Amino acid sequence: MKICVLPGDGIGPEIMAEAVRVLQALDLGFEMEEALLGGAAVDATGKPYPEATSKLAREADAVLLGAVGGPKWDAMPREQRPERGLLAIRKELGLFANLRPAILYPELANASTLKPEVVAGLDILIVRELTGDIYFGQPRGIEVRDGQRYGFNTMHYTESEIRRIGRVAFEAARKRNKRLCSVDKMNVLETTQLWRDVMTELAPEYPDVELSHMLVDNAAMQLVRAPKQFDVMVTGNMFGDILSDEASMLTGSIGMLPSASLDENNKGLYEPSHGSAPDIAGKGVANPLATILSAAMMLRYTFGKEEAASRVENAVKAVLAQGYRTGDIYEPGTKKVGTREMGDAVLAAL
Ligand code: NAD
Repeated sequence: MKICVLPGDGIGPEIMAEAVRVLQALDLGFEMEEALLGGAAVDATGKPYPEATSKLAREADAVLLGAVGGPKWDAMPREQRPERGLLAIRKELGLFANLRPAILYPELANASTLKPEVVAGLDILIVRELTGDIYFGQPRGIEVRDGQRYGFNTMHYTESEIRRIGRVAFEAARKRNKRLCSVDKMNVLETTQLWRDVMTELAPEYPDVELSHMLVDNAAMQLVRAPKQFDVMVTGNMFGDILSDEASMLTGSIGMLPSASLDENNKGLYEPSHGSAPDIAGKGVANPLATILSAAMMLRYTFGKEEAASRVENAVKAVLAQGYRTGDIYEPGTKKVGTREMGDAVLAAL
């Protein structure tokens, strides 16, 4: 039970420290080893995903990641940008399935910009394909053609890539409310016509799950109009990138949302949905709960420790009920705490 711990940049090291304390408190005998990723790795080695990190990540059973990136590295050549490290580790580990829950805890209903009655009790899971689509398709580039600059990318999916992400989504829906909405743009893009066809072909294998289809523009609209209509949504890499951020913002508290990226054997990379928050880095005010909840997802999906995962999730619910809030979710009448105190409160609740 080896965990590769990658604190990363910005608030990454602060929030990771709290997640590691929670894992240690569970006393399950995990071996945890730290390595560099992102800007911190560029500073130390010149590369965002150094060989030592790659080796540790390949050896470990799971990877727990804080966040990468920041203004310091934005002007660097593309190969040295921290985000390249993230794409590289996902690709190398074959992490093709990204699971992002968007849950609105009742205590935080006012944090959403939507009316409480629209979002209270929201519990959606977005399953995003992570290693294909236009983000990785070749050819790509910017060239001069006919005397002007020309930018191009290529969208493609094979039916086996669609089928394996489809299976993850159907299985996830099976464990929840048994409704799956597949999102595409089949009226314009042939790649996503194939997506819809393959999802439809899979459906008879999961007779207990109700499959529906929605065009991505409508899905973006429905997510803000009536988000509780959804249970599990499945979509490709680019649409999933956008829709999962939209869904997480419905909750108004990006500092609360975990994510999991899995390979075919449930090895996974677990990270908060938010970025490295350079604006508050080093101040000890970041919300560590998304990272702690990511560790809970790791316990469940990679290590099969459902009871420990629930213990951590219940401890988070308990600290919210006790009124503890970091700045991002603070409301008058609650107790404002920093990163470390929030970690202390979770440990006490555990
Ligand atoms: P961000 O998520 O880092 O921050 C957006 C806003 O949310 C900021 O105001 C920030 O202070 C706040 N916020 C985020 N997480 C928080 C937390 N845990 N507690 C309290 N407040 C929190 O997004 P951004 O500002 O667009 O990006 C900053 C950097 O992070 C960029 O370099 C970007 O490339 C990178 N990024 C990394 C990842 C990743 O590592 N997976 C994801 C997104 C962005």
